[in-house]
Amino acid sequence: MNTTLIVNARIVYPGDRVSAGQLLLQRGRIAAIDPAPGAIPADTLRIDAGGRWLTPGLIDVHTHGIGHSLYEASPEQLLEGLAFAARFGTTTILPTLYRVMNRASLPLLARLSQALDSVRGVSAPGWHLEGPFLKLPGAGAETIPGDLHLLEELLSATGGRTRAMSISPDTPNIIPVIERLIECSIVPFITHTRASVAETERAIDAGARHATHFYDVFPVPEITEPGVRPCGAVEAILADSRCSVDFIADGVHVDPVAIRVALAAKRFSGIVLITDSNIGAGLPDGIYPTTFGFPVKVSARNGARIHDPNQRSHGGLAGSALTMNLGIANLHQWLKIPSEQIWAMGCSNPARLLGLANKGVIGVGADADIVVWDDDFTPAHTWVAGERVFTTA
Ligand SMILES: [Zn+2]
Repeated sequence: MNTTLIVNARIVYPGDRVSAGQLLLQRGRIAAIDPAPGAIPADTLRIDAGGRWLTPGLIDVHTHGIGHSLYEASPEQLLEGLAFAARFGTTTILPTLYRVMNRASLPLLARLSQALDSVRGVSAPGWHLEGPFLKLPGAGAETIPGDLHLLEELLSATGGRTRAMSISPDTPNIIPVIERLIECSIVPFITHTRASVAETERAIDAGARHATHFYDVFPVPEITEPGVRPCGAVEAILADSRCSVDFIADGVHVDPVAIRVALAAKRFSGIVLITDSNIGAGLPDGIYPTTFGFPVKVSARNGARIHDPNQRSHGGLAGSALTMNLGIANLHQWLKIPSEQIWAMGCSNPARLLGLANKGVIGVGADADIVVWDDDFTPAHTWVAGERVFTTA
Protein backbone atom coordinates (compact mmCIF):
# COMPACT_ATOMS: atom_id res chain seq x y z
CA MET A 1 0.00 0.00 0.00
CA ASN A 2 1.08 3.58 -0.76
CA THR A 3 2.88 5.75 1.74
CA THR A 4 2.11 9.45 1.35
CA LEU A 5 3.87 12.48 2.80
CA ILE A 6 1.86 15.72 2.79
CA VAL A 7 4.18 18.69 3.22
CA ASN A 8 3.67 22.42 3.66
CA ALA A 9 0.20 22.10 5.21
CA ARG A 10 -1.66 24.35 7.62
CA ILE A 11 -2.83 21.52 9.86
CA VAL A 12 -6.12 22.03 11.72
CA TYR A 13 -6.29 20.15 15.02
CA PRO A 14 -10.08 20.38 15.53
CA GLY A 15 -11.07 22.25 18.66
CA ASP A 16 -7.45 22.92 19.52
CA ARG A 17 -5.14 24.83 17.15
CA VAL A 18 -3.84 25.36 13.64
CA SER A 19 -0.15 24.88 12.98
CA ALA A 20 2.14 24.33 10.00
CA GLY A 21 3.47 20.83 9.51
CA GLN A 22 3.78 17.56 7.59
CA LEU A 23 1.82 14.33 7.84
CA LEU A 24 2.99 10.85 6.92
CA LEU A 25 0.17 8.47 5.93
CA GLN A 26 0.97 4.76 6.04
CA ARG A 27 -1.18 1.60 6.17
CA GLY A 28 -4.39 3.60 6.49
CA ARG A 29 -3.21 5.56 9.52
CA ILE A 30 -1.41 8.78 10.32
CA ALA A 31 2.02 7.26 10.91
CA ALA A 32 3.85 10.44 11.93
CA ILE A 33 3.53 14.21 12.27
CA ASP A 34 6.63 16.09 11.07
CA PRO A 35 8.56 12.82 10.56
CA ALA A 36 12.34 12.77 10.72
CA PRO A 37 13.80 12.39 7.17
CA GLY A 38 15.13 8.93 8.05
CA ALA A 39 11.60 7.75 8.90
CA ILE A 40 10.25 8.39 5.38
CA PRO A 41 10.35 5.32 3.09
CA ALA A 42 12.09 5.80 -0.27
CA ASP A 43 9.02 5.19 -2.45
CA THR A 44 6.84 7.71 -0.58
CA LEU A 45 4.46 9.83 -2.67
CA ARG A 46 5.05 13.49 -1.79
CA ILE A 47 2.15 15.97 -1.97
CA ASP A 48 2.76 19.70 -1.50
CA ALA A 49 -0.26 21.28 0.20
CA GLY A 50 0.98 24.75 -0.79
CA GLY A 51 0.28 26.24 2.65
CA ARG A 52 -3.39 25.31 2.43
CA TRP A 53 -5.63 23.98 5.18
CA LEU A 54 -5.44 20.29 6.02
CA THR A 55 -8.15 18.80 8.24
CA PRO A 56 -9.50 15.40 9.21
CA GLY A 57 -12.26 14.35 6.79
CA LEU A 58 -15.77 15.55 7.57
CA ILE A 59 -18.29 13.22 9.24
CA ASP A 60 -21.99 13.45 8.33
CA VAL A 61 -24.30 11.65 10.79
CA HIS A 62 -27.57 12.59 9.06
CA THR A 63 -27.89 12.37 5.26
CA HIS A 64 -30.42 10.59 3.04
CA GLY A 65 -28.78 10.97 -0.32
CA ILE A 66 -26.65 13.03 -2.66
CA GLY A 67 -26.39 13.61 -6.38
CA HIS A 68 -28.95 11.40 -8.14
CA SER A 69 -28.95 8.82 -5.33
CA LEU A 70 -31.32 8.12 -2.45
CA TYR A 71 -29.38 5.78 -0.17
CA GLU A 72 -32.40 3.68 0.83
CA ALA A 73 -33.69 3.20 -2.73
CA SER A 74 -31.40 0.28 -3.62
CA PRO A 75 -27.91 -1.10 -2.96
CA GLU A 76 -26.81 0.42 -6.30
CA GLN A 77 -27.93 3.93 -5.34
CA LEU A 78 -26.41 3.51 -1.88
CA LEU A 79 -22.97 2.67 -3.30
CA GLU A 80 -23.17 5.29 -6.06
CA GLY A 81 -24.19 8.06 -3.64
CA LEU A 82 -21.58 7.22 -1.03
CA ALA A 83 -18.84 7.24 -3.67
CA PHE A 84 -19.81 10.84 -4.54
CA ALA A 85 -19.17 12.26 -1.04
CA ALA A 86 -15.38 12.55 -0.96
CA ARG A 87 -15.34 15.40 -3.48
CA PHE A 88 -17.08 17.49 -0.79
CA GLY A 89 -14.55 16.53 1.88
CA THR A 90 -16.81 14.00 3.62
CA THR A 91 -14.98 10.81 4.54
CA THR A 92 -17.36 9.20 7.05
CA ILE A 93 -21.12 8.88 6.61
CA LEU A 94 -24.04 7.40 8.50
CA PRO A 95 -26.47 6.93 5.60
CA THR A 96 -29.85 7.78 7.09
CA LEU A 97 -32.95 5.66 6.42
CA TYR A 98 -36.49 6.93 7.00
CA ARG A 99 -39.15 5.53 4.66
CA VAL A 100 -38.09 1.90 5.06
CA MET A 101 -38.49 1.60 8.85
CA ASN A 102 -41.34 -0.93 8.65
CA ARG A 103 -41.86 -4.72 8.49
CA ALA A 104 -42.62 -4.70 4.76
CA SER A 105 -39.16 -3.21 4.12
CA LEU A 106 -37.15 -5.69 6.21
CA PRO A 107 -35.84 -7.64 3.18
CA LEU A 108 -34.69 -4.39 1.51
CA LEU A 109 -33.09 -3.31 4.79
CA ALA A 110 -31.14 -6.57 4.89
CA ARG A 111 -29.94 -6.15 1.28
CA LEU A 112 -28.90 -2.54 1.90
CA SER A 113 -27.04 -3.60 5.05
CA GLN A 114 -25.07 -6.25 3.19
CA ALA A 115 -24.15 -3.65 0.55
CA LEU A 116 -22.61 -1.46 3.29
CA ASP A 117 -19.76 -3.98 3.46
CA SER A 118 -18.74 -3.23 -0.14
CA VAL A 119 -18.63 0.56 0.20
CA ARG A 120 -15.50 2.09 -1.34
CA GLY A 121 -14.12 5.62 -1.26
CA VAL A 122 -15.70 6.60 2.04
CA SER A 123 -16.13 5.07 5.47
CA ALA A 124 -19.73 4.06 6.33
CA PRO A 125 -19.60 2.51 9.82
CA GLY A 126 -23.37 1.95 9.95
CA TRP A 127 -26.85 3.39 9.64
CA HIS A 128 -28.70 6.22 11.24
CA LEU A 129 -32.33 5.06 11.43
CA GLU A 130 -34.58 8.14 11.46
CA GLY A 131 -37.62 6.49 13.05
CA PRO A 132 -39.89 4.66 13.17
CA PHE A 133 -40.64 5.63 16.80
CA LEU A 134 -41.29 9.30 16.10
CA LYS A 135 -44.15 11.55 17.20
CA LEU A 136 -44.32 14.09 14.38
CA PRO A 137 -44.22 13.23 10.67
CA GLY A 138 -41.84 14.84 8.23
CA ALA A 139 -40.48 13.87 4.83
CA GLY A 140 -42.27 10.49 4.99
CA ALA A 141 -40.73 9.21 8.22
CA GLU A 142 -42.81 6.67 10.18
CA THR A 143 -44.61 7.74 13.39
CA ILE A 144 -45.50 4.72 15.52
CA PRO A 145 -45.34 4.01 19.29
CA GLY A 146 -42.24 2.39 20.79
CA ASP A 147 -42.26 -1.34 19.95
CA LEU A 148 -39.42 -3.54 21.22
CA HIS A 149 -40.35 -6.41 18.88
CA LEU A 150 -40.18 -4.24 15.78
CA LEU A 151 -36.95 -2.69 17.11
CA GLU A 152 -35.32 -6.14 17.32
CA GLU A 153 -36.50 -7.00 13.79
CA LEU A 154 -35.05 -3.76 12.42
CA LEU A 155 -31.75 -4.19 14.25
CA SER A 156 -31.39 -7.79 13.18
CA ALA A 157 -32.17 -6.88 9.53
CA THR A 158 -29.26 -4.39 9.70
CA GLY A 159 -27.02 -7.13 11.08
CA GLY A 160 -25.51 -4.99 13.83
CA ARG A 161 -24.82 -2.09 11.46
CA THR A 162 -26.99 0.49 13.26
CA ARG A 163 -25.00 3.30 14.95
CA ALA A 164 -27.76 5.83 15.72
CA MET A 165 -31.55 5.91 15.93
CA SER A 166 -33.75 9.00 16.05
CA ILE A 167 -36.66 8.84 18.50
CA SER A 168 -39.22 11.26 19.99
CA PRO A 169 -39.47 11.56 23.80
CA ASP A 170 -43.26 12.03 23.52
CA THR A 171 -43.86 8.76 21.66
CA PRO A 172 -45.67 6.17 23.84
CA ASN A 173 -43.42 3.43 25.26
CA ILE A 174 -40.20 5.15 24.16
CA ILE A 175 -38.16 4.72 27.38
CA PRO A 176 -37.68 0.92 26.95
CA VAL A 177 -36.61 1.59 23.35
CA ILE A 178 -33.97 4.11 24.50
CA GLU A 179 -32.72 1.67 27.15
CA ARG A 180 -32.43 -1.13 24.59
CA LEU A 181 -30.53 1.15 22.17
CA ILE A 182 -28.04 2.00 24.92
CA GLU A 183 -27.55 -1.74 25.64
CA CYS A 184 -26.73 -2.21 21.93
CA SER A 185 -24.30 0.78 21.90
CA ILE A 186 -26.59 2.63 19.48
CA VAL A 187 -26.77 6.38 20.08
CA PRO A 188 -30.36 7.66 20.54
CA PHE A 189 -30.98 11.04 18.85
CA ILE A 190 -34.02 13.17 19.79
CA THR A 191 -36.09 14.68 16.95
CA HIS A 192 -39.56 15.18 15.35
CA THR A 193 -41.04 16.09 18.72
CA ARG A 194 -43.43 18.29 20.63
CA ALA A 195 -42.27 16.81 23.97
CA SER A 196 -42.72 18.65 27.24
CA VAL A 197 -39.75 19.56 29.42
CA ALA A 198 -40.50 16.56 31.69
CA GLU A 199 -40.78 14.09 28.77
CA THR A 200 -37.52 15.36 27.29
CA GLU A 201 -35.70 15.11 30.63
CA ARG A 202 -36.93 11.51 31.07
CA ALA A 203 -35.54 10.61 27.64
CA ILE A 204 -32.17 12.20 28.48
CA ASP A 205 -32.10 10.44 31.86
CA ALA A 206 -32.70 7.15 30.01
CA GLY A 207 -29.70 7.79 27.74
CA ALA A 208 -30.63 10.12 24.86
CA ARG A 209 -27.62 12.38 24.38
CA HIS A 210 -28.15 14.27 21.16
CA ALA A 211 -30.81 16.17 19.20
CA THR A 212 -30.80 16.01 15.40
CA HIS A 213 -31.81 18.74 12.94
CA PHE A 214 -32.33 20.72 16.10
CA TYR A 215 -35.16 23.33 16.03
CA ASP A 216 -36.52 21.71 12.81
CA VAL A 217 -39.65 19.66 13.55
CA PHE A 218 -39.40 20.87 17.17
CA PRO A 219 -42.51 23.12 17.05
CA VAL A 220 -42.73 26.17 19.32
CA PRO A 221 -45.04 25.26 22.25
CA GLU A 222 -48.49 26.85 22.22
CA ILE A 223 -49.09 29.83 24.50
CA THR A 224 -51.86 28.79 26.88
CA GLU A 225 -51.74 31.75 29.29
CA PRO A 226 -51.00 35.30 28.12
CA GLY A 227 -47.84 36.60 29.78
CA VAL A 228 -46.44 33.10 30.34
CA ARG A 229 -43.83 31.89 27.89
CA PRO A 230 -44.11 28.13 27.39
CA CYS A 231 -41.03 25.86 27.31
CA GLY A 232 -40.60 22.43 25.74
CA ALA A 233 -38.04 20.08 24.23
CA VAL A 234 -35.86 22.88 22.81
CA GLU A 235 -35.38 24.57 26.18
CA ALA A 236 -34.90 21.25 28.02
CA ILE A 237 -32.19 20.21 25.54
CA LEU A 238 -30.44 23.61 25.58
CA ALA A 239 -30.42 23.54 29.39
CA ASP A 240 -28.97 20.02 29.74
CA SER A 241 -25.20 19.82 29.41
CA ARG A 242 -25.38 16.06 28.71
CA CYS A 243 -27.01 16.72 25.34
CA SER A 244 -25.37 17.89 22.10
CA VAL A 245 -27.25 19.20 19.05
CA ASP A 246 -26.80 19.27 15.29
CA PHE A 247 -27.80 21.67 12.56
CA ILE A 248 -28.50 21.77 8.84
CA ALA A 249 -26.32 24.86 8.29
CA ASP A 250 -27.73 25.90 4.92
CA GLY A 251 -29.24 29.22 6.05
CA VAL A 252 -32.74 27.95 5.17
CA HIS A 253 -33.60 25.30 7.76
CA VAL A 254 -32.32 27.23 10.76
CA ASP A 255 -31.55 30.89 11.32
CA PRO A 256 -27.90 31.58 12.16
CA VAL A 257 -29.00 33.38 15.34
CA ALA A 258 -30.57 30.12 16.59
CA ILE A 259 -27.22 28.39 16.04
CA ARG A 260 -25.56 31.16 18.07
CA VAL A 261 -28.06 30.53 20.91
CA ALA A 262 -27.02 26.87 20.96
CA LEU A 263 -23.34 27.85 20.78
CA ALA A 264 -23.76 30.05 23.87
CA ALA A 265 -25.50 27.18 25.71
CA LYS A 266 -23.33 24.26 24.54
CA ARG A 267 -19.96 25.79 23.58
CA PHE A 268 -18.47 24.67 20.27
CA SER A 269 -17.91 21.14 21.55
CA GLY A 270 -21.67 20.51 21.86
CA ILE A 271 -22.48 21.40 18.24
CA VAL A 272 -22.40 19.07 15.24
CA LEU A 273 -22.84 19.93 11.56
CA ILE A 274 -25.07 17.71 9.43
CA THR A 275 -26.48 18.03 5.91
CA ASP A 276 -29.77 16.01 6.06
CA SER A 277 -29.10 16.05 2.31
CA ASN A 278 -31.19 14.31 -0.27
CA ILE A 279 -31.38 13.87 -4.05
CA GLY A 280 -29.93 16.96 -5.71
CA ALA A 281 -27.28 17.80 -3.11
CA GLY A 282 -23.91 18.49 -4.71
CA LEU A 283 -25.44 18.97 -8.17
CA PRO A 284 -25.57 22.27 -10.04
CA ASP A 285 -28.71 24.35 -9.38
CA GLY A 286 -31.56 22.85 -11.37
CA ILE A 287 -34.69 20.69 -11.44
CA TYR A 288 -34.18 16.95 -10.90
CA PRO A 289 -36.49 13.91 -10.97
CA THR A 290 -37.07 11.87 -7.77
CA THR A 291 -39.01 8.78 -6.80
CA PHE A 292 -41.15 10.84 -4.35
CA GLY A 293 -43.92 11.63 -6.84
CA PHE A 294 -42.58 15.09 -7.70
CA PRO A 295 -39.39 16.65 -9.10
CA VAL A 296 -37.24 18.87 -6.86
CA LYS A 297 -35.81 22.29 -7.60
CA VAL A 298 -32.37 22.34 -6.07
CA SER A 299 -30.11 25.15 -4.97
CA ALA A 300 -27.44 24.87 -2.30
CA ARG A 301 -28.51 28.29 -0.97
CA ASN A 302 -32.27 27.62 -1.04
CA GLY A 303 -32.65 23.92 -0.19
CA ALA A 304 -34.42 21.28 -2.26
CA ARG A 305 -38.01 22.32 -2.97
CA ILE A 306 -41.03 20.51 -4.40
CA HIS A 307 -41.36 21.55 -8.04
CA ASP A 308 -44.89 20.81 -9.22
CA PRO A 309 -47.01 23.87 -10.03
CA ASN A 310 -50.17 21.68 -9.89
CA GLN A 311 -49.58 20.77 -6.22
CA ARG A 312 -50.47 22.96 -3.27
CA SER A 313 -47.12 22.04 -1.76
CA HIS A 314 -45.29 23.56 -4.77
CA GLY A 315 -42.20 25.43 -3.54
CA GLY A 316 -42.25 23.69 -0.13
CA LEU A 317 -39.06 22.25 1.35
CA ALA A 318 -38.34 18.65 0.34
CA GLY A 319 -35.02 18.35 2.15
CA SER A 320 -31.65 19.97 2.04
CA ALA A 321 -29.23 20.34 -0.84
CA LEU A 322 -26.35 21.03 1.51
CA THR A 323 -22.94 19.38 1.36
CA MET A 324 -20.69 19.31 4.44
CA ASN A 325 -18.08 21.68 2.95
CA LEU A 326 -20.73 24.36 2.28
CA GLY A 327 -22.01 23.97 5.85
CA ILE A 328 -18.48 24.56 7.16
CA ALA A 329 -18.16 27.62 4.90
CA ASN A 330 -21.50 29.01 6.18
CA LEU A 331 -20.52 28.48 9.82
CA HIS A 332 -17.30 30.43 9.19
CA GLN A 333 -19.47 33.33 8.03
CA TRP A 334 -21.97 33.19 10.88
CA LEU A 335 -19.94 32.34 13.99
CA LYS A 336 -17.24 34.60 15.33
CA ILE A 337 -15.13 31.85 16.88
CA PRO A 338 -11.73 30.38 15.97
CA SER A 339 -11.69 28.31 12.79
CA GLU A 340 -10.45 25.17 14.58
CA GLN A 341 -13.62 25.25 16.71
CA ILE A 342 -15.80 25.37 13.59
CA TRP A 343 -13.92 22.45 12.01
CA ALA A 344 -14.54 20.49 15.23
CA MET A 345 -18.29 20.67 14.49
CA GLY A 346 -17.70 18.65 11.31
CA CYS A 347 -14.86 16.39 12.53
CA SER A 348 -14.11 15.64 16.17
CA ASN A 349 -17.58 16.40 17.61
CA PRO A 350 -19.50 13.91 15.41
CA ALA A 351 -16.72 11.33 15.93
CA ARG A 352 -17.04 11.65 19.71
CA LEU A 353 -20.84 11.47 19.47
CA LEU A 354 -20.56 8.12 17.67
CA GLY A 355 -17.66 6.81 19.75
CA LEU A 356 -15.33 6.68 16.72
CA ALA A 357 -12.08 7.16 18.64
CA ASN A 358 -9.76 7.09 15.59
CA LYS A 359 -11.73 9.53 13.45
CA GLY A 360 -12.14 13.30 13.31
CA VAL A 361 -8.73 13.99 14.83
CA ILE A 362 -5.13 14.56 13.78
CA GLY A 363 -2.79 12.35 15.78
CA VAL A 364 -0.37 9.48 15.33
CA GLY A 365 -2.41 6.29 14.94
CA ALA A 366 -5.61 8.07 13.86
CA ASP A 367 -7.31 6.96 10.64
CA ALA A 368 -5.76 8.63 7.60
CA ASP A 369 -9.03 10.27 6.53
CA ILE A 370 -7.64 13.64 5.43
CA VAL A 371 -8.65 16.60 3.28
CA VAL A 372 -6.49 19.41 1.85
CA TRP A 373 -8.74 22.40 1.12
CA ASP A 374 -8.67 25.20 -1.40
CA ASP A 375 -9.46 28.64 0.03
CA ASP A 376 -13.11 28.44 -1.09
CA PHE A 377 -13.77 25.31 1.03
CA THR A 378 -13.61 22.93 -1.90
CA PRO A 379 -11.33 19.92 -1.47
CA ALA A 380 -8.11 19.78 -3.47
CA HIS A 381 -7.36 16.22 -2.26
CA THR A 382 -9.30 13.74 -0.13
CA TRP A 383 -7.84 10.58 1.42
CA VAL A 384 -9.84 7.78 3.02
CA ALA A 385 -7.86 5.23 5.03
CA GLY A 386 -4.68 6.60 3.46
CA GLU A 387 -5.88 6.17 -0.11
CA ARG A 388 -6.42 9.28 -2.23
CA VAL A 389 -10.03 8.98 -3.43
CA PHE A 390 -10.44 12.48 -4.86
CA THR A 391 -8.12 15.10 -6.32
CA THR A 392 -8.38 18.18 -8.50
CA ALA A 393 -4.68 17.95 -9.37
ZN1 LIG B 1 -33.53 13.38 7.98
